[in-house]
Amino acid sequence: MHVTHLTLRNFRNYASADLDLAPGVRIFEGVNGQGKTNLVEAIAYLSSLRSHRVSSDSALVKFGEDAAIIRAELAHGPRRLSIDVEITKSGSNKARVSGHPVKARELPRYFNTVLFAPEDLALIRGEPQQRRSFIDSLLATHAPRLADVIANYERVLKQRNSLLRSAKSRTVSDAMLGTLEVWNDQLIMLGTEIIAARLALVTRLRPHLAKSYMALVDADHGATMTMRVSALADAKKLMDEDGAGGEIDSELTVEEIREQFTLRLKDAQAREFERGTTLVGPHRDDVTFWLNGLPARITASQGESWSFALSLKLAAAQLVREESRTGDPVLILDDVFSELDGQRRSRLATAIEGFEQVLITCAVLEDLPEELWTRTIRISAGTI
Ligand code: ATP
Ligand code: MG
Repeated sequence: MHVTHLTLRNFRNYASADLDLAPGVRIFEGVNGQGKTNLVEAIAYLSSLRSHRVSSDSALVKFGEDAAIIRAELAHGPRRLSIDVEITKSGSNKARVSGHPVKARELPRYFNTVLFAPEDLALIRGEPQQRRSFIDSLLATHAPRLADVIANYERVLKQRNSLLRSAKSRTVSDAMLGTLEVWNDQLIMLGTEIIAARLALVTRLRPHLAKSYMALVDADHGATMTMRVSALADAKKLMDEDGAGGEIDSELTVEEIREQFTLRLKDAQAREFERGTTLVGPHRDDVTFWLNGLPARITASQGESWSFALSLKLAAAQLVREESRTGDPVLILDDVFSELDGQRRSRLATAIEGFEQVLITCAVLEDLPEELWTRTIRISAGTI
């Protein structure tokens, strides 16, 4: 799938912009602060109604204006469709596909993007939360229903935590324990579904990750990933202060997960009353990335972390290509090449060759391998 035309009105520093795009690699070149990232951010926003840079959408509306509009015309084989989104300065948004209103979680059925930006280094170095949301948003791409399961889980977790907080340092009445039972059932039911889906996704992502990393660095450094699942720890680890959980590198049946989750939760109950919070469940889980058998988070060098994060995104793009009905996602590489050495630059250029549309931003063309220098679009102060 690829974008054939993009229209921006009052989006970030663009008052008004129109741009025709063809399939293949397109380069957006311009010095710092001109609007390169803004432009690719707009395209990525259309596939998820989320910006990779800000959590509040009001920052996306041009300063001093009431609303922004992003519109893209898309082609998927012979099929043509359009997506348009209006974002108000209060941060609300409305999306339509070919004129029909759609919810955010329905958008991956029509359009997918995979964006890699310098911020993605946090996938390797940052907090577990960032790795969980990488996995969860990929899950939502493949199964929009899971976005609802995750939202429901978070709601149940909040309720359960508030009950535990109020029970903290007070004697727990039978009535309170009764209510907790109800929340436990919900937590286990929804949590089990999330854990099973994450484990299955990681299993499908793993071979792509190994291949992408190898393609970038030209050596088999055994790049792989496992899930650290708090609900699946073995009995020895149950008493760990933070119950780190088991490192899981295979899929488990829903029944196995539910059983272990139930046991873990029971074991943690006394500590949960003490701490006033839920200690077991997918909200405590993490993804571990491995390089040469060592956890990348604490051992990978800057360059290795960078290549690893990039490989993850390329792997995600491969998975979308294989599993989504929209075919190839639009691959977006924001300021990536300048961080790589000459050899990795040309390896990356080769790795992206097969994608239907690749949008690349750079400050100077010299950062890119020469074979990519064609079809450059110059960006200057919010004009294309
Ligand atoms: P760099 O090479 O440094 O990454 P860039 O070309 O990617 O630069 P952008 O991040 O796209 O730059 O930002 C371009 C400009 O847009 C910035 O100067 C910023 O101040 C401006 N800008 C961002 N949000 C808004 C907004 N809501 N209203 C007006 N201008 C904005
Ligand atoms: Mg930028």
